[in-house]
Amino acid sequence: MRKWRLLAALVVAAAALALLVSRLLPGSAGRVPTYDWECARCQYHLRHRVANAAADLPVITCPKCKTKSAERVMHFQCRKCWKKYDLRGSQATLANIICPACSSRAARDLDHLIPGDDEPVEGGKPYPGK
Ligand SMILES: [Zn+2]
Ligand SMILES: [Zn+2]
Repeated sequence: MRKWRLLAALVVAAAALALLVSRLLPGSAGRVPTYDWECARCQYHLRHRVANAAADLPVITCPKCKTKSAERVMHFQCRKCWKKYDLRGSQATLANIICPACSSRAARDLDHLIPGDDEPVEGGKPYPGK
């Protein structure tokens, strides 16, 4: 009987440890991405945490002038021709990630760089550097 209790305690301890490690590792659920918002009315600039870039509102109420004019600004760079482009306001949705120069949908998110995102897609030009 005692052995089973010990085993159960060990399983609980292992689960707690796994949870702790997953929180401490970079890039896991503990890190909340941020995006830029810019007020079209008063030019106030803010950095705002978003839990989900796809679900979050692209236009929010500006904390300074209190009008619903603060537009999300997302910065992308095409991974085929390396053109940089911005999406803002109601255009700042993941569906609109299309390069204005070559129409490629492959892009790196300049606000949230990840290792390897400076590799070109198939048929793309080599990364020109910063
Ligand atoms: Zn404002
Ligand atoms: Zn392009």
